[in-house]
Amino acid sequence: MTELHLIPVGRDRGGEELRLDQLDVLAAALARVFHLSCHVRPEPLEADFALDPVRGQYHSTAILRALAEVEGGEQTRLLGVTAHDLYIPVLTFVFGEAQLGGRCAVVSLHRLREEFYGLPPDAQRLQERLAKEAIHELAHTFGLRHCDDWRCVMASSHSVERLDLKGVEFCLGCCQVYERALASQGLSLRA
Ligand SMILES: [Zn+2]
Ligand SMILES: [Zn+2]
Repeated sequence: MTELHLIPVGRDRGGEELRLDQLDVLAAALARVFHLSCHVRPEPLEADFALDPVRGQYHSTAILRALAEVEGGEQTRLLGVTAHDLYIPVLTFVFGEAQLGGRCAVVSLHRLREEFYGLPPDAQRLQERLAKEAIHELAHTFGLRHCDDWRCVMASSHSVERLDLKGVEFCLGCCQVYERALASQGLSLRA
């Protein structure tokens, strides 16, 4: 059965805590968009192995590999959520990364916070950005690729400005791709 599981990644650090109530709100948003049940797994995945001490950032691909080892049904999608700053070697940073057509994705809160840009905290904006980024990365695990419609959640966004512009939903085309992906797994969307 296809389910979504959220897993906190990494230990809390000063000012960078990842709160389980944020994950509960996120789980509700994901369940709504994907029409799948979504659970928060309270046991965190340790991420120290992914830290590059020179960059002070965590290698997201290494975290994906570790998530792939976490128990869960074959069709279960695992989304790691972390407060750590993520990178892949060719980029300065990433908001998240996913295995296209795979089981695992990871997203970071680090650069979604207004405080990162020297602005006052905005909990609601943070939650919205987290939902968009999480939906985007999880949708990659269902085989969805980037979308040219800037309003669609599958539009690529490498800045919070672009993230804020786009919506939290799939465009019609992406919705159809997602429905086909579910149908190929013997599932159909709830009415
Ligand atoms: Zn993407
Ligand atoms: Zn789209």
